[in-house]
Amino acid sequence: MKILVIEDEPKAADYLRKGLSENGYAVEVAHNGTDGLHAAVTGDHDLVILDAMLPGIDGFTVLSALRSSRELPVLMLTARGDTDDKVRGFHLGADDYLVKPFQLPELLGRVKAILKRGQPAAVEQVLRTADLEIDSVRHRATRAGQRIDLSAKEFALLTLLAQKTGEVLSRTQIASLVWDIHFDSDTNVVEVAIRRLRAKIDDPFEQKLIHTVRGVGYVLERRGAL
Ligand code: CA
Repeated sequence: MKILVIEDEPKAADYLRKGLSENGYAVEVAHNGTDGLHAAVTGDHDLVILDAMLPGIDGFTVLSALRSSRELPVLMLTARGDTDDKVRGFHLGADDYLVKPFQLPELLGRVKAILKRGQPAAVEQVLRTADLEIDSVRHRATRAGQRIDLSAKEFALLTLLAQKTGEVLSRTQIASLVWDIHFDSDTNVVEVAIRRLRAKIDDPFEQKLIHTVRGVGYVLERRGAL
């Protein structure tokens, strides 16, 4: 995680640089608003720690300029007791603020909280049914830890069934979603593909996962006590 510190007071800047880098963050320091804004707009930082009182362009101006150019979390540092600064900072879109002087653990806590907030929720990349695992990112399927080789269409078919675990899919639905075939007659292709898929996914294993629902279609689900 890369943090940009915009702080003009050398002692404060050193304190932040040291404290943050000792806790595993990569730190860049800018000593005035102009350099800070340039670094924030052109860099790839994950967070900006921005002092409100800066020579030249002050922190609030930096913040509003930054807000109009890119989404970057900002923790503002304000002077003690200056509620106007706090309100102004939030109004301009600061993610949090900290009143000087502060203790390092407090700063680290705020930094962690902001960075956590900014992270997109983890996308579920692995589908699981019983001992079957489908990793859609690595394009891998395994049963009981054994790798199963599948063609692209077989993988697409299996992924579809696994995404709809417990839900019966008709041959027509499968044909349209996997093969882009939009008519009822030629769904033999689905039966053939299901047969091939079963030979790989189910035949070598005691517990069968792909089931035929007569007259309707297919469902992937775990059944029975196993
Ligand atoms: Ca300052």
